[in-house]
Amino acid sequence: MEYIQNYINGALVAPQSGNYINNYEPATGKVYSLIPDSDANDVKVAIRAAEIAFPSWSRLPIGDRSKIIAKIAQLIEEQLEPLAQAESTDNGKPVWLAKMVDIPRAAANFNFYATAIQHYSADANAMSNTAINYTLRDAIGVVGCISPWNLPLYLFSWKIAPALAAGNCVVAKPSEITPMTAYLLSKICIEAGLPAGVLNIVHGYGHTAGNEIVSNPAVKAISFTGGTQTGKTIAKIAAPMFKKLSLELGGKNPNIIFADCDYDKMLATTMRSSFANQGQICLCGSRIFVERPIYEKFKKDFVAKTKALLVGDPNDATSKMGAVVSKAHQEKVLSYVELAQQEGGTVLAGGQAVQVAGRCKAGYFIAPTIIEGLAYDCRTNQEEIFGPVVTIMPFDTEAEVLQYANSVEYGLAATLWTSNVSRATRMAQQIHSGIVWVNCWLLRDLRTPFGGIKSSGVGREGGFHALDFFTEPKNVCIEY
Ligand code: NDP
Repeated sequence: MEYIQNYINGALVAPQSGNYINNYEPATGKVYSLIPDSDANDVKVAIRAAEIAFPSWSRLPIGDRSKIIAKIAQLIEEQLEPLAQAESTDNGKPVWLAKMVDIPRAAANFNFYATAIQHYSADANAMSNTAINYTLRDAIGVVGCISPWNLPLYLFSWKIAPALAAGNCVVAKPSEITPMTAYLLSKICIEAGLPAGVLNIVHGYGHTAGNEIVSNPAVKAISFTGGTQTGKTIAKIAAPMFKKLSLELGGKNPNIIFADCDYDKMLATTMRSSFANQGQICLCGSRIFVERPIYEKFKKDFVAKTKALLVGDPNDATSKMGAVVSKAHQEKVLSYVELAQQEGGTVLAGGQAVQVAGRCKAGYFIAPTIIEGLAYDCRTNQEEIFGPVVTIMPFDTEAEVLQYANSVEYGLAATLWTSNVSRATRMAQQIHSGIVWVNCWLLRDLRTPFGGIKSSGVGREGGFHALDFFTEPKNVCIEY
């Protein structure tokens, strides 16, 4: 049984308490490795290491920092196969998906910020004939990065890469549910020659290790991705210390389909936006609104395709969907199917756990599920389920569907399907969300602002937005 280790001050170390947490493989339901149950003491040592490393890392010429970060990207690319296998074993997602999406994107995150930092510049403002202002953008110091389990290395690196590129030292915690690729990243960082203390990865629970990262005054900024409730807890602790906060939280995204859309492309993409990664992507469109003239056709085609989706062993290349991340999460998702039925919904496809034969017989699988007949404002249509469960519902007018779409507390992403440019522009402007995809989904340009409004979070990641977050601007005014 493998013992995962913390990465503190450049070395792989055991938790001070000697305690470990079981790490389950979701596809089999079996414990396959052990995770350090780190506490505040481990985090304190990591923070101290980061403080000591900060002066030299932040003063290192940008080109030198960039080379080390690019080397991390290169090593991730070289280790695509073992990293993808590890991500799949840890999370339950198909290996092919981790190989196609998670691991390449983690490498892309490091590559992107290794180069972005070389193009990052600050403002100068001349005041006519009196003075010149210039703005410095300095690294903040020690920053905390906390990430969830759904896209483990992808989201972990999305925070760490800009933080390091900007010259900060990092104390990071992956979700204790999916720690393996963060552990493998520690080894990659050592191999890439990242100086000791620049990045520290502490494994453990949110309420212990995570809480110390958030509440320790030496950590000056927190970049967090996870649930809205956890975001609230973090904000409450961090706000009185005036820490910088970037919070990427939950979503309940609308997928709005007009009759004039490119139907085949819409249907194929809607399959992905509903069920990719077992529906465990914060950007998945879980509320599908379909214009009435094509509602019945869409329903028939979507249900048929969904029933044909193969749920199976993540190691099997033919499995379109793997296991959900944990037993507790499987129970939570299925409890929403029950709730939907109590609220008057009809299950058109799925709605139950799936038993996969062989080595996966005790795994946590759920059939992709479609529910119809629910009111837009019932709990099933308002609360985040974060699994392979979508609702479908017809609409007649733009005004009506806008009301449905905007009725939730969340505002992360929305998808629109129409060939009418005027309508797309009009709707995109009125939808309450940080991201709108028109005739596509999850098409990502890493330069663009990423994040949500309302209960979906505060701040934006991506491009120079993340570098803005991980630096502190200082204006210098010189009168002449
Ligand atoms: P959680 O909020 O439960 O956990 C996220 C991370 O925070 C984990 O590492 C967790 O540790 C840690 N944590 C928990 N409590 C605390 C605390 N008190 N102090 C510090 N850290 C803490 O989210 P999930 O892991 O369940 O992820 C799913 C959620 O993430 C969904 O709501 C989803 O929408 C959201 N998400 C948002 C994205 C976005 O970009 N907006 C992208 C992806 C996911 P532990 O594992 O021990 O609980």
